Amino acid sequence: MTAHLAEAVRTDPGSLVPDLYRVVQRRVEVGDVVTLSLEPVERSPLPFRAGQFNMLTAFGVGEVAISVSSAPGAPGPIEHTIRDVGAVTHALCCCDTGVAVGARPDSLVASFIGVIDEVAVFNRPLQDDEVKGVYESQK
Ligand SMILES: Cc1cc2nc3c(=O)[nH]c(=O)nc-3n(C[C@H](O)[C@H](O)[C@H](O)COP(=O)(O)OP(=O)(O)OC[C@H]3O[C@@H](n4cnc5c(N)ncnc54)[C@H](O)[C@@H]3O)c2cc1C
Repeated sequence: MTAHLAEAVRTDPGSLVPDLYRVVQRRVEVGDVVTLSLEPVERSPLPFRAGQFNMLTAFGVGEVAISVSSAPGAPGPIEHTIRDVGAVTHALCCCDTGVAVGARPDSLVASFIGVIDEVAVFNRPLQDDEVKGVYESQK
């Protein structure tokens, strides 16, 4: 990618291309929950608001939505607190200091803007056939 194109991609708020961040601290909170402190490799971090999430990439594994857990405007690295529940979150939780991950911000361009109805909360993981049943019943 040329420098010009790379800059154009970065300044596009709807870009699906992640920026490169480096893990500067890994803190185990409890059990399978880890907080990663991230610093941008190439440029200053994008500003964020309370409640915003980033799409974090574990290279070669995948990308997941993770809320920013540090305070907006606070100096220092951006923090994300992650629970190890599957392939991507496991890869992220295993990242040690110095490892590079990808991050791209939630934005009004790349976000889902809509209404979610019939929300349900389960106190157990759903089995594949149960998820399929819910999906089929909503089609
Ligand atoms: C806007 C937004 C913000 C989020 N912020 C955070 C955050 O700050 N920290 C964080 O840890 N996660 C957060 N999540 C959830 C996170 O994105 C998912 O846990 C992640 O996508 C799981 O991907 P995976 O590949 O690791 O696991 P998958 O392979 O997708 O899932 C593995 C198994 O775990 C189950 N599972 C998936 N997610 C969860 C979950 N959250 N809790 C319990 N079981 C689950 C699945 O049903 C499946 O059985 C957020 C999600 C959204 C949409």
